[in-house]
Amino acid sequence: MALSEIDPVKYQCGCVNSIFELRENLKDIDFVVKLLQEHGVISREHNCGRCDNSCQLDTKRWVWRCQKKVTIGNQKAKKCNYSVSVYKGGWLSNAKVKAGDNLFFSGVYLDKIFSYELIHREIGWTNKTIVGWSTFIREVLENYCELVRKPIGGPGLTVEIDESKFGKRRYHKGVRVDAQWVFGGICRETREFFAVPVETRDRETLLALIKKYVVPGSTIISDCWKSYNCLGTEGFDHLTVNHTFNFVDPETGAHTNTIKRQWRSYKEWVPKVGRKKYYFRGYLARFYFFSRWKSLVDRYHHFLLAVAALYPPTN
Ligand SMILES: [Zn+2]
Ligand SMILES: [Zn+2]
Repeated sequence: MALSEIDPVKYQCGCVNSIFELRENLKDIDFVVKLLQEHGVISREHNCGRCDNSCQLDTKRWVWRCQKKVTIGNQKAKKCNYSVSVYKGGWLSNAKVKAGDNLFFSGVYLDKIFSYELIHREIGWTNKTIVGWSTFIREVLENYCELVRKPIGGPGLTVEIDESKFGKRRYHKGVRVDAQWVFGGICRETREFFAVPVETRDRETLLALIKKYVVPGSTIISDCWKSYNCLGTEGFDHLTVNHTFNFVDPETGAHTNTIKRQWRSYKEWVPKVGRKKYYFRGYLARFYFFSRWKSLVDRYHHFLLAVAALYPPTN
């Protein structure tokens, strides 16, 4: 099933809209396993690695166990007893933390109440573990964005594009905090948007992104193209002829207030400290995910599906 085709009204899968309810539910390991199975994060069945017999779930140790009787040589028949963790081969297979804690952390990270203090208090994770799993979750969200994001705009629609610099390079308690340029766009009519970190803002880079994220035939409004205009009209001609985007001159009164507002929202989402250049794609993905799914239950549900999409469990 495609990620976008799930009907959020029909949650029968254990996803809830309250982080406190989730916390209670996750104390029950049966619930944890069912939740993971419902979203395809772990598999519902497993074949023995030794004799290919279908294994049973040992709910004391949470392992798949082969119960098949086997005879080797003249010995009495014995149980094969092959066993493997239910988490093996999937998202949680290398986790050094309890699955329930990890699922709770994911919920908190997908809720606006996320804070280090809350995590310290509730599950006792160290800062290092928090940073590690936050990165892991953002990778899932980045992959989600790649899978579901479609170009924005279209004929008769207006797309505002702009570049914005996030922060200045500075030092916080001796640690370097990087600045980052981000290029993005928003469709005025549909409010769909995209934003990607860029290393250079040359014409080639931005054109490639416009071609990837904006539907040809859209009317594009920007400030920045004015500066390209100063460099010569060649780029513009090339652009409008070959890719049939229509650029509106800012001098005509067209404005880019919508994208400027969007940048302000983005900036509230990017951590002020501990920010690293290579995390930016993840920060933007998180922002995109929160904008797309407004409630925790939606975010949690689609997050788990995205986990299964990125780390399909292997037998
Ligand atoms: Zn076996
Ligand atoms: Zn769900």
